[in-house]
Amino acid sequence: MSNTGNQEPRPHIALLPSAGMGHLNPLLRLTATLAARGCHVTVITPIPTFTAAESEHMDEFFSTYPNISRLKFQIVGDEPPSEFDPPIFLQWQSINRSGHILRPLLTALSPPITALFSDFVAGLCICPIADDLKIPNYFVVTSSARFFSLWALLPYINKSHDDEILIPGLSPFHISTIPPPFFNPNHLFTKLATSNAPLLSKAKGILLNTFDYFEPDTITAIRKGTVLSDLPQVFPIGPLKDYKFGKGNYPTWLDDQEEGSVVYVSFGSRTTLSRDQIRELGDGLERSGFPFLWVLKTSKEDEGELRDLLGDTFFEKTGKKGIVVKGWADQEAILAHPAIGGFVSHCGWNSVTETTRFGVPILAWPQHGDQRLNAEVVEKAGMGVWERDWGWQRERLIKGEEIGEKIEKWMTDEKSKTQAKKIRVEAKKALEANGSSEKALSDLITTVKKN
Ligand code: UDP
Ligand code: UDP
Ligand code: UDP
Repeated sequence: MSNTGNQEPRPHIALLPSAGMGHLNPLLRLTATLAARGCHVTVITPIPTFTAAESEHMDEFFSTYPNISRLKFQIVGDEPPSEFDPPIFLQWQSINRSGHILRPLLTALSPPITALFSDFVAGLCICPIADDLKIPNYFVVTSSARFFSLWALLPYINKSHDDEILIPGLSPFHISTIPPPFFNPNHLFTKLATSNAPLLSKAKGILLNTFDYFEPDTITAIRKGTVLSDLPQVFPIGPLKDYKFGKGNYPTWLDDQEEGSVVYVSFGSRTTLSRDQIRELGDGLERSGFPFLWVLKTSKEDEGELRDLLGDTFFEKTGKKGIVVKGWADQEAILAHPAIGGFVSHCGWNSVTETTRFGVPILAWPQHGDQRLNAEVVEKAGMGVWERDWGWQRERLIKGEEIGEKIEKWMTDEKSKTQAKKIRVEAKKALEANGSSEKALSDLITTVKKN
């Protein structure tokens, strides 16, 4: 398309996703959304990619959208990435250290870039470039507004005293919900957070993959400047939609199951449970009596036959009652299936926001990082339950009996089901004309065009 006649200028937005499927997916969704709104978009893809899943998804994305340009950005690596239990923070650091390589690539782009949309963990890479080239940068937050508030304030919080961290306008943050690395100033995650957070105020805007109905108090507090006074305008534009437009694949076994009967179990793209916990979870699913679809990721040392991992009798006992998919499954296609009645989730933020679109209640089992704060959001919104004493990843072994009982109780809890359906309605409304997220997105595009 060319800019002829009275047509408005078409902004050229370059998007920089950082490493990890949980960072790539929302940025690709946003890219597809912007392209559908007539923006010219370029996706900057750091090379080498962090996992095989990310390369595969990018290939699929660019073949689905041949008009979207890809700018490969060779980063200076510290260590070679591995596929399981990956040193994701090292990769974030590498991206942050490679801004000098990205800069000339961006200046060479044509038409010239009008705005940068970058992952909020990549500020050290992008801000100096945005400053130099005088291009406005917008940060894209891939976690909850609640986690974002903690992140924004992290450099200024003293974590050594009380049981709670108080952030004005928000419900208190109990220290048990704070990502454990944040108590260690030498942890790479903490160093990245404390060096990236002060850059937020340099951005032209902050995009949140959440919506007003889902995190009302937090979004209000951020907007009012009570969380941090010098934050730029925030745009809650979520829940970001699947870029495959409902064309994904799910295991056809689901078609044979009753509506709302199946427990879906997944801990995201990179979290693995211990071998013992995997067995106990299998036992718990069997005991619950509900059909289940379990997407199971294993660590390198647990590679091999499912039978070895789950026990010889597992598949005999469960029969056709459940299926286990090892590796990758298309989560959006699964969540969209009417047979799904509940989601046992680690509460990665993408999993949570995807679930809001399908009205499925969550049994939260957060494992690390931001996931407890996200589980709090799920709980507060009434979309699910969280068994707090199940601990952080690999902290303690939860027995099958307890898991089975919990699943049974939660799958028959009408309150979560009703509220999850209500949230689906509200998520849909937010994205419709005059909906809060739709308005935020229109505002955003108008602002970008004015740049
Ligand atoms: N995902 C998927 N299939 C899988 C595992 C993950 O489609 O087998 C997707 C999931 O739908 C989500 C993303 O990968 O979009 C994972 O992000 P999330 O924030 O939920 O968790 P993380 O993997 O970052 O812990
Ligand atoms: N099964 C599964 N996922 C797997 C392997 C097995 O869900 O990756 C279940 C599935 O219901 C299958 C049954 O276990 O029909 C029998 O498994 P078996 O290991 O005997 O595998 P098969 O030889 O049937 O492929
Ligand atoms: N982890 C992660 N994302 C996070 C926090 C942790 O993937 O936001 C992973 C990390 O790679 C490691 C595990 O979770 O495999 C435990 O990490 P953490 O830093 O909490 O533990 P520690 O450094 O104390 O062993």
